[in-house]
Amino acid sequence: MTRKTFRARRLPAHGVESGWSALLAPRTPTPELDRAITVDVVIIGAGFAGLAAAVRLAHLEPRLSVAVIDADMVGNGASGRNSGFLIDLPHDISSGNFGVDGVTKSHNEILIARTAIQHYARLAEENGWNKDLFDRSGKYSVAMTDAGTKHLAAYSSKLNSLGEPHQVLGAEEIEEVTGTRSFKSGLFTPGAVVVQPAAMVRAIADLFPEPVRLFERTPALSIETSSSGCTVKTPKGVVRVARIILATNGHAESFGFGSGELLHVFTYASLTEPFPPSALGGSRKWGATPAAPMGTTIRRINGTDGDRLLIRSRYTYKPDIEVGAASIKSAGDLHDRKFADRFPDHRHLKMQYRWAGAMALTRNSVPLFGQVADGIFAACACNGIGGTKSTAAGIATAELLVGHRSKLGEIFRSFEKPQALPPRPFTDVGARLNLKFREWRAGRE
Ligand SMILES: Cc1cc2nc3c(=O)[nH]c(=O)nc-3n(C[C@H](O)[C@H](O)[C@H](O)COP(=O)(O)OP(=O)(O)OC[C@H]3O[C@@H](n4cnc5c(N)ncnc54)[C@H](O)[C@@H]3O)c2cc1C
Repeated sequence: MTRKTFRARRLPAHGVESGWSALLAPRTPTPELDRAITVDVVIIGAGFAGLAAAVRLAHLEPRLSVAVIDADMVGNGASGRNSGFLIDLPHDISSGNFGVDGVTKSHNEILIARTAIQHYARLAEENGWNKDLFDRSGKYSVAMTDAGTKHLAAYSSKLNSLGEPHQVLGAEEIEEVTGTRSFKSGLFTPGAVVVQPAAMVRAIADLFPEPVRLFERTPALSIETSSSGCTVKTPKGVVRVARIILATNGHAESFGFGSGELLHVFTYASLTEPFPPSALGGSRKWGATPAAPMGTTIRRINGTDGDRLLIRSRYTYKPDIEVGAASIKSAGDLHDRKFADRFPDHRHLKMQYRWAGAMALTRNSVPLFGQVADGIFAACACNGIGGTKSTAAGIATAELLVGHRSKLGEIFRSFEKPQALPPRPFTDVGARLNLKFREWRAGRE
């Protein structure tokens, strides 16, 4: 093994607290690593990918000593600040048709997604998670326009060809669910799960048994590989280890992995103030993704203080993996317009929380997976649907490390490598134009 050092050029800055975290009691983080430790495996990053890898390792090899370190508190990263859909069907947001292409490819995507959902379903069952945290409710896709309805019809015929059950809904039927007349049509798929993402990742982090240990607020500053193993340096500690799972999503590139291959894109969400349940008809809890990729997601959640609506829309390219207040403000203005378009009678509702979160996409929509250096294995680049894809990448990486064979691992190993992006100035201009064009094409959706 040649001696190499990979220094983190930048650390994650997740920004303003998400509505999901704000609705929970403040978290008491696990202690920061403040000494030198030696373990069998260190997992860097405690999002969907890192947590899934830790759970799978503990399941397959309960005697392995594992340390999980995260630069921030669990739940503050993208895995705790997303819209909370675990989608069991192909859902490639960067493709024109959600990536329902070849039958084999689609079946592989479905296997990936359902393995991830099964992973969480088992945890839900074992730990008695309630439906506020994890709900196998299925999800809707909703269309605001005739073009959106056409998208749903095309999606429905693809689902038919895959033998996937679903229900196409007319305007009145979708109004019965959402309480608004704004949607022209809908499509229900029963296999999706909706979660309270911050509550779910916290719940997983809090159940690790010895010998898995979690150290929050412990950024990996550098990784050194040598013939005697690897060393991960943190501000106050050191981890000596044989193997590393890098589950840092786009921050893989901060260490130099996936350089020139990862597109760093942020998306944005707003959550309304609570309103009395009787103020809006329909069901008190539902989730809907847009008919067209790059459109707007909506969820209604119910809590003890009333119901709330979540809206997620807008994608922006941020090569430095940081987002400022101006971008959140601009996305917030868009959310207000989209919200008023969907719920004109409730346009007075104020948005209580607004936030953004990072995603890493690749040009060919594949993850950055497998061995990236001596002793270092990546489960990164969620491609916008990390609820399932990053989870499955974490599971597959754990299996790879202990030599466990599975169909999931086979699929991950068969992925091609992420394609190189054009040189920076071209990517910068191209990615911004492309996202703007796609947002324009999604129109009212
Ligand atoms: C608003 C929004 C809505 C979304 N909605 C959905 C949805 O409904 N369904 C879906 O499937 N996906 C959704 N996504 C995408 C999804 O959240 C991500 O794909 C997913 O969270 C990625 O998981 P991950 O574990 O790969 O990465 P992350 O959750 O980003 O975890 C990586 C972790 O690594 C840590 N880290 C990074 N660098 C270091 C370092 N040097 N040292 C230590 N720790 C480090 C970070 O702090 C972070 O906690 C959404 C994203 C956003 C922002």
